[in-house]
Amino acid sequence: MKSSWTTTLLLWLLASPALAAEPDWMITVQPAELHQGGIAQLRVLGRDIAGVKALRGGEEIALFVAEDGSYFALLGLDLEQRPGPLEIPLRGRSVGGESWARQATIYVKAKEFPRETLSVSAAFDQIDRATLKRIEKEQAELDRLWKIHSLGRLWEGRFVAPVSGGITSPFGLRRVINGSARAPHGGVDLKASLGAEVVAANHGRVVLRDEFFFSGKSLVLDHGGGLYTMYFHLSDFRVQKNSQVRTGEVIGLAGMTGRVTGPHLHWGARLNGARVDPVELLEVTDAKP
Ligand SMILES: [Zn+2]
Repeated sequence: MKSSWTTTLLLWLLASPALAAEPDWMITVQPAELHQGGIAQLRVLGRDIAGVKALRGGEEIALFVAEDGSYFALLGLDLEQRPGPLEIPLRGRSVGGESWARQATIYVKAKEFPRETLSVSAAFDQIDRATLKRIEKEQAELDRLWKIHSLGRLWEGRFVAPVSGGITSPFGLRRVINGSARAPHGGVDLKASLGAEVVAANHGRVVLRDEFFFSGKSLVLDHGGGLYTMYFHLSDFRVQKNSQVRTGEVIGLAGMTGRVTGPHLHWGARLNGARVDPVELLEVTDAKP
């Protein structure tokens, strides 16, 4: 055993100058096969790493150092991400100052999202011009949030569900209302009675606290590293904008504000702009980073 280790070390020392052009970093993506809306852990392990960045859609994602010394990031696939292999370019720097370029690959699997066909009265489906303008403004305000990069990671450990109730409307649900297809469901609806306490899924900062036409009283938390969670249709807020919250802290009360038919909590998540299934956060962070 000892001699084989010595041999390995000797071989490594001999081979080392020739290997200088290629870092012996180990790159893992787990799971390597992911369905649309899924979240994977990207890990880079090796000697003398000074920093690693991943590129997604022209944006840089900084990997942070995990407890075991590896470099780590969560990668999210949008619910409408094209199926097939997805290359994630990685750029790294070694302690010696050299830069490296490597690639990680995720195999995107198509997901069979559920479908629902509804007919409602034309009057309920009609939106006047002024309201349409308001909706566009509110959508733009939300979209702007995903482009703001909080520098450091605020979240740590496991994510928790914001309410204890089960899923009443699944992530990615395709709705066809009065014959026309609507935007797929970007989050999950969780069972919550009027006034039920809603807690923060992890540490973060309140970056949106507003009342919108569709989502009613809405909160968005920025968890850092390009990760956001949303809490919609609240009856009341329990936090101020820009305040810092901790995992499990009460941030609001469930309700039925906005365009809904009954009380529930709409819980959504964005990861580097991608619409991801928030329930995946509970699973992917189960194994501590
Ligand atoms: Zn919803």
